[in-house]
Amino acid sequence: MDDAHEALGAKPSVMETRKICFLYHPRLRAFIRLRIFLRLARFSISQQYPTNTEILTIMTQSTRVLIVGAGPTGLTAAIELARRGIMPVVIEKRKTASNLSRAVGILPNSMDILTPSGAAKAIRKEAVIIQSSVFHNQDKQVSSIKMNGLRGLNKRLYALPQDRTEYHLLKVFRELGGKVNYGAEFLSLSQSDNEVSVSILGKAFRFDYVIGADGVNSTVREALRIPYEGFDLPETWSIADVDAKVWRNPRSFSIFLLKDGNVAVTVPLDKERFRVVATSKDALAALPIPMIVEKIRRSGTFKVSIRQAKTYQLGRAFLAGDAAHCHSPVGGRGMNLGIADAAELAECIANGTTKNYTAIRHPLGKKAIQMSERMRKAVTTTSFTKRFILMRLLKLFARVPSLRRRFVANTLDL
Ligand SMILES: Cc1cc2nc3c(=O)[nH]c(=O)nc-3n(C[C@H](O)[C@H](O)[C@H](O)COP(=O)(O)OP(=O)(O)OC[C@H]3O[C@@H](n4cnc5c(N)ncnc54)[C@H](O)[C@@H]3O)c2cc1C
Repeated sequence: MDDAHEALGAKPSVMETRKICFLYHPRLRAFIRLRIFLRLARFSISQQYPTNTEILTIMTQSTRVLIVGAGPTGLTAAIELARRGIMPVVIEKRKTASNLSRAVGILPNSMDILTPSGAAKAIRKEAVIIQSSVFHNQDKQVSSIKMNGLRGLNKRLYALPQDRTEYHLLKVFRELGGKVNYGAEFLSLSQSDNEVSVSILGKAFRFDYVIGADGVNSTVREALRIPYEGFDLPETWSIADVDAKVWRNPRSFSIFLLKDGNVAVTVPLDKERFRVVATSKDALAALPIPMIVEKIRRSGTFKVSIRQAKTYQLGRAFLAGDAAHCHSPVGGRGMNLGIADAAELAECIANGTTKNYTAIRHPLGKKAIQMSERMRKAVTTTSFTKRFILMRLLKLFARVPSLRRRFVANTLDL
């Protein structure tokens, strides 16, 4: 595995290295010195001149972890492991960082997780704070629920395109000494009681643990033959990221409940930039109030699946993020759930309690899927009575402080 870290360029923290060195028996230290000397000699022959510290850190890496996928889940796991002195090897099949801005909403729990590493601070600087959730019946505003200013509930909902969130996560990981190996695809694994063997770029490497953070179509999950139980929605949803100088409620989530049970949503991404998502094929056309668009930055369609892996772990391999669960964007939980999985798994690996991982995270994933599905069904109902009751409730949420508090707490997953 030393080779894996060397070949793929991972370095554990200097603090960890020192701590481990102090703990070593004198003979072990002498052995390490000898190996360092041999390494130095080898490096000098090959005309590479790494510092002693770099070599030491390669040599003394204690726990060998492979993370497959450098999306928000993989990058959070990488940061949280690196912060705990375990520098993982991260592989990503894409050639470069992603420019897809799928998730927007960043919940308070994610910000709490990302605070110690400094990623939350960078996100906060760039993100938009969502002021309210504004509901419409067709084009008519029925309710505006303020998200901020509740006593004792001073948490914020931030909006930032996913590619920017990933940018900040990657930056922090690199600052911690980490590296993402782009263009490296995971294909298969085999494992024993003591280690996992993985083939990367045609070479076999051994790890203590493998984290599959490789998204909905997870190859790690397939390799482990873990069932991904659930169903796919028949309809096609759509998305558009646009520049528009004028839009009503520019700092709010605007939700348009349409006649046929369809829904269109707008979310601010920046001062004059918005995300439009609809449960039908053309997001911009679905808006009942035309948006005067200056520029379409991106538009497309996507399918929605509602699924959860039967277990999040098998032996020494684990699933996190979309590899473990997926649901519709309603409720905005997907990326946030992945960030929380990653942080929990890093903690479990660092303190040797990996057996608890599924027991902790699977029920929370199930709860988030159920909540998202309840919300999706409520807003897409075609029943006149159910729609009528929903409108009344939304009006009450805006007016009655205790109900507003409950709505905000629910939306922010507090
Ligand atoms: C339109 C839309 C809107 C959304 N809005 C929200 C929202 O507002 N809030 C929210 O929380 N969530 C939202 N989501 C969901 C969110 O985008 C996902 O939950 C999130 O991207 C999951 O992150 P991940 O890191 O687990 O997986 P991914 O982001 O899919 O990353 C997986 C990575 O693994 C890599 N990979 C795959 N296979 C391999 C392999 N074999 N070897 C190496 N690398 C591999 C991929 O290239 C990819 O980079 C939205 C999703 C969509 C589609």
